[in-house]
Order: sequence, then C-alpha cells, then structure tokens
Amino acid sequence: MPQTRSNTYARHMNQVDAVVVGSGPNGLAAAIVIAQTGRKVIVFEAADTVGGGCRSAELTLPGFQHDICSAVHPFAVVSPLFRSLPLAVHGLEWITPPVMVAHPLDNGCVACVYQSLAQTADELGSDSAAYRRLFGPLTRSWPNIEQSVLGPLKWPRHPIAMAKFGVRALQPAVGLARRVFGREPARALLGGIAAHSMLPLDMPPTAGVGLALNLVAHVGGWCFPRGGAQSLANALASHLQSLGGTIVTSTTIASVDELPKARAVLCDLSPRPLLRIAGHRFPPRFRRALERYRYGMGAYKVDWALDGPIPWRNPACALAGTVHLGGTLDEIAASERESWEGRHAAHPFVLLSQPTLFDPSRAPQGRHIAWTYCHVPHGSEIDMLPRIERQIERFAPGFRKRVIGRAVMQPADLERHNANLVGGDIAAGATTLGQLFTRPTWRTYSTPLRGLYICSASTPPGVGVHGMCGYFAARRALQEVLRD
Ligand SMILES: Cc1cc2nc3c(=O)[nH]c(=O)nc-3n(C[C@H](O)[C@H](O)[C@H](O)COP(=O)(O)OP(=O)(O)OC[C@H]3O[C@@H](n4cnc5c(N)ncnc54)[C@H](O)[C@@H]3O)c2cc1C
Repeated sequence: MPQTRSNTYARHMNQVDAVVVGSGPNGLAAAIVIAQTGRKVIVFEAADTVGGGCRSAELTLPGFQHDICSAVHPFAVVSPLFRSLPLAVHGLEWITPPVMVAHPLDNGCVACVYQSLAQTADELGSDSAAYRRLFGPLTRSWPNIEQSVLGPLKWPRHPIAMAKFGVRALQPAVGLARRVFGREPARALLGGIAAHSMLPLDMPPTAGVGLALNLVAHVGGWCFPRGGAQSLANALASHLQSLGGTIVTSTTIASVDELPKARAVLCDLSPRPLLRIAGHRFPPRFRRALERYRYGMGAYKVDWALDGPIPWRNPACALAGTVHLGGTLDEIAASERESWEGRHAAHPFVLLSQPTLFDPSRAPQGRHIAWTYCHVPHGSEIDMLPRIERQIERFAPGFRKRVIGRAVMQPADLERHNANLVGGDIAAGATTLGQLFTRPTWRTYSTPLRGLYICSASTPPGVGVHGMCGYFAARRALQEVLRD
C-alpha cells in the first residue's frame, strides 16, 4: 500500500535516484520505467489515493463506485508501455462491452462502433463501403503507426503508413466526415468521436483525434477496468512497488526545493502547477513560455446513482459502454464551437458511460451508475445539469425517474480535485495543432534545469490514460542524467 505523510519522506532523503511529483498514470508510468532499471524512485502524491485522473470513489451513495475522472480507456489498452507490464498479476481486468460506442439519433436509428470493423461497416448502410475504405487500411497499419500516434514527433519508422494516416488526421473532422460519408449516422458517429478533442470540429487536427480513437476501438477496444479506473491506477502502483518503488500519498509538494536530493525529478504536472513549484528556478524565457501555454475548454461532469438501467429508446444503446448524445454532426459541431468561444450550448454534446451494465460489482444489486460530461467554456460557473439531463431524456425518456443520487463537478471542482485541470480543462492543455507536438514548449519533456522533466499529459502524446508521456519523459531522464 502507498505510505502516507512525511516520516517516509524523511527516510528517503538522499537515498533516491529519481523523484516523481504526482501519481497520475503518467507519473506512475515514469516511475515504473525508471524502477525497471533497478534505480530507486519515490513518488509524491498530493491526494490521499494514487491515480490522478484514474481514480474511483463513492461519489453519490454508499456502494456506488464512480470514476472521478477517466472512465473508458481505449489508449490504455493499446499503450505499448501498459501492454508490456504484468498488470493482470496486480489485479487489472479489462472489460470489453459488446458495443464500444453507440450514437443515437432523433429518428430512432443508432450508429454503433463494434470491435469488429466488418460489423460496424455492415450497419452503416450506404456508408458501409466508405467506412471500410477509411478504417480498413488504418486498422491494418496500426502496428506501424502506433509509435507515432502515441509518441512525440519524430521521423516515423513507417513513413508511408504514417503519411496515409497523417494526411487525413491533420484535417478538421467536419470536412473529413462530410467528404467521406454520404449520410448522417456515419457522419455523426465520426463527429462525436472527434469531439473528444475538445476543439471545434472545423479545426484541425480534430479528424486525427476522431480517426485515432475510432481505429483503436477496432484494434483494442473501448474497455474499462473491472471495479473502475482506480483498479488500473492500483495495478500500476502495485507493480511499481514490486519493483522497489515507493509512493507517498497525502503530500503536496509546494516547491521543488523541498524534494529529496535526486539526479532526476519528473513532474506529472501541467504548466500552471509546475510554475508554482519550480517557476522560481526557471529562466524568465522558459517561465514566459509556460505562462503562454494555452488551456482549453472545461468539462462539466455529472455522476448518477440509478435504481435501474438507463431506459434507452433504442435497445442497442444498452449494449454500449459509451454513448454519445448530441444528435447530428452539425449539432455537435455547433455545440463544440459555442463552448470554445465562451458560450454555453443549449444542447451540449454529452459523453456518457454506463459501466455497471457490464460490471455489476460497482453498484448494489440491480442498481446502476452513469458517468457523463459535456464541454463548457474554460472556467465556466454555469449550471449545465438540466441541459445534460435533457439530452439524456431525449434518447432515454424516463431517465430522470431512475435517479436516486447525483454528484456534480464543475470546472472549479475539477481543478480543486487535481491542480493539473486548470479551468476544468481535462486535457491539461488545448490540443491545437500548435500544441500537439510541442507541448508544453518545443523542449517537450525537458526544461532548462538539468535533471528536471515534465511527464504529464501536457507533453506528447497528450491527453488520455496511456502512460506514454511518462514513458518518454523517463526514457529521456535515463539517457541524460541517470546513465550510470
Ligand atoms: C472528467 C475527466 C474525464 C476524463 N475521461 C477520460 C477517459 O474516459 N479516458 C481517458 O483516457 N482519459 C480521460 N481523461 C483524461 C485523463 O484522466 C488524463 O489525461 C490523465 O489522467 C493524465 O494523466 P497524468 O498522469 O498526466 O496527470 P493526472 O492524472 O492529472 O495526475 C497528476 C497527479 O499529480 C498530483 N499533483 C498535482 N500537483 C501536485 C503537487 N504539487 N504535489 C504532489 N502531487 C501533485 C495530482 O493530485 C494528480 O494525482 C479524463 C479526465 C477528466 C478530468
């Protein structure tokens, strides 16, 4: 189990090779990569549990285990680092729902992404062939492009495969969806998946986010850990400890000056909290570069305890781990643009997950949980609960009658929960083209201070639970300052 408070802290002074600040999936990943080489590593975590954006808790009622941040983990399943770790031995079990994501429309039809590409295409009617043409080659070439999609910018090992992906990826999702698909269900489906980018869908590289998330549904699946996101964080923490790593929870680092002496310090922090603990040590130019880093839209999150499953109008939605509620491509695009421009959409695009349909361990018998969020302007203080519930009722009439408990997190609550989520931005920085490959600065994982690294989702490849930011930051530290 992680140790708490600073008696442990004192014991480890002068005894470690590397210190990691923050135990999110990237912090734990970085610590594991360093511990795998036999070096001593210690992780300090402000919260009283490990996991950062990968934690679960009884947010509504006793016995209802909700995910506080991340709920569905497509990139964790395909992550080259996580795949290489014995996480099952440490209690991780992936649950794969029959449908990865369902996207209902007002006319009653539902577009679904299955793990099977053929089944997905077959249900898209006249867009079936276009879906196969788009995702068939991409899915087959995933082993050749995964390093580029889940890594920093560098010359790809398979330039032709990567160029085929990149040429589409660097487009706005709206343009790609309209060009490739002739009808609404397929267009809306791709638009909804691309909206995970938290950017207006007429901006590049939203197509890239949509394509990558859609194709990993076929390669690995939009899976979630049995018991909730916390099970993944616990498995990573347990593996780290089995390698000799130490985790100290309930310890907020106020300044890098108070850390044990170590050759490498890796901060699982986005630029704003990083500046708070290390800003006084950075040269003014680097400080200014971090201050210029752009955070994006916020999220308004709601969890429900329900006395039964969600009464979807179309039963196909009850087979899906994730449901996208926002109607047509144009509706979703309008809602995302409004949030980006500082307005609150009357009909926000809502991302919903319903894990207890496939993992009954997370609620009392016969009861269920649901997890949603919608995008709102950065730092928004507006109550979006009625609008979110209206969107669910639109496709599941009678939903509100099933509610027995609710927990809301506005952007300020998210930031209080985790300092990285500035203004409620769950991506730790906007994923605009300018910040996609050079996050948070052109130095990516490095800083001007020798031995001080950034390993959070504010570095490439960015948002999501995959640990690859931590992996690449740790590799850099191992090459530069932990060589002997
Ligand atoms: C509401 C929400 C929903 C999301 N949904 C998904 C999803 O479904 N799928 C997905 O893949 N991703 C999702 N994400 C994104 C995902 O959670 C993040 O991309 C991921 O957690 C980033 O990991 P990280 O290790 O970089 O940082 P974090 O997870 O942010 O971890 C940073 C850690 O550092 C700690 N910390 C901060 N300051 C200090 C300090 N001074 N001293 C000590 N510790 C400190 C924090 O407490 C935290 O534990 C979601 C995020 C949110 C907020």
